[in-house]
Parts: sequence; structure tokens; C-alpha cells
Amino acid sequence: MKFMHLSLASGFACLVAACSFGGPDFTTRGLIAPVAQCAVDPATLGDGDQLQPFEEANGCGIPNPWRMRSLSGVQLSQPATLNCGEIAAVDDWLNTTVQKAAAKDFGEPVVGIEVAASYACRPRNNVPGARLSEHGFGDAIDISGFTLADGRKVTVEHGWSGARDERAFLRTVRSKACGEFKTVLGPGSDAEHHNHFHLDIAHRKNDSTYCH
Ligand SMILES: [Zn+2]
Repeated sequence: MKFMHLSLASGFACLVAACSFGGPDFTTRGLIAPVAQCAVDPATLGDGDQLQPFEEANGCGIPNPWRMRSLSGVQLSQPATLNCGEIAAVDDWLNTTVQKAAAKDFGEPVVGIEVAASYACRPRNNVPGARLSEHGFGDAIDISGFTLADGRKVTVEHGWSGARDERAFLRTVRSKACGEFKTVLGPGSDAEHHNHFHLDIAHRKNDSTYCH
């Protein structure tokens, strides 16, 4: 899976390697970096550690970074490094949308999510010359699946056109993410997003949303 290696490891590899020497070929023009002040303290939402704020020469960086291992009792398949505002949005989405949809469609709660990517210093869709991805600000998370209490795994890749309950669940959690997250992408958006949801809170012009 192409996006898997854009996760935490490459994020930090970027800190010491690629980004420091000339940097990748992308621009931050028109992008608004996240703020350090957040309404919700991530420590109250789940298991995680606060990290030191960091900034990379090419524009990547996180003003209030945390590395979260769980949110509201939902385990993350790998620790997610995100800015505090994105953490609060993911937690809220899990509580208000994901668990309700899981109860309705499966009759049981979600206990885990598959985190395909969090912080990563890279251009959008890894296209050289494209704008910086919101992953470079810690404002975006890629989620490729959900684990139910009975151990069943619901993946975006297979469930999107899979069993009826999985199709319903995935469509509900995706469509209701729009609003709280300003950009929501998934299967059908483009070839890059056939196997995961991209959820990011970055502000867009006129407070609009982009959910396709
Ligand atoms: Zn993404």
C-alpha cells in the first residue's frame, strides 16, 4: 500500500534527512499553519504523550504536537502524531459519529482504528511540485479501517463495496465527517484514496468544505 510508508517513521526520517537538505519540491503558499492553542487538552481524551513543538525548514511542523495511542478508549493501530486540534476533531468524530454508526449497523462498538498516516512532511499525493500536504502540519489523519469489539475488521478498501452493513457504516462515517473536518477524501475521490479516508481540519477559503 503506497501510503503506509508515509506514516510516523518517514515523518521523523524527514526531520533528520530529506527535508533538511534542500527539502522536497513543494510549496506552502496559501496554506494556513495550525495554531498551538487548542480548546481541548489531548491528555483528557486518551493515552498519549505531548511532544516538543517543531518546525522544519521547508514549512512542515506542528505547534502543539502529541503522539496519541488511543482516543476515547479506541486503540490506534500505530501512534498518531498530530496537532492538538486534529486530535480533538478525531476524538469528537469517534464519539459522535463512528460509535453511533457502529451501534446501528453492527450492534457493537468500534474498539480500534487503522491509522495509515498522520504527520508526514510531503507534497500532496506525493506529487513533486504539488502543495504541501496538510499531513505536514499534523492537521490530517488517514484511516484505513475499523476493528469492532468482536474482532471483525472493516476496511475502507474492501468494505466500501463489501457487505451491506459495512457499506452503510463507511458511508455514514465518511459523510458525517464533513463539516468538523474541512477536507474529507476516500474511495472515488481519486486513485490515491481508494483504500483510506483522509480527514483534515485545515481551514479553507470562506470556511468552505471539500468532501468528495
Ligand atoms: Zn491523507
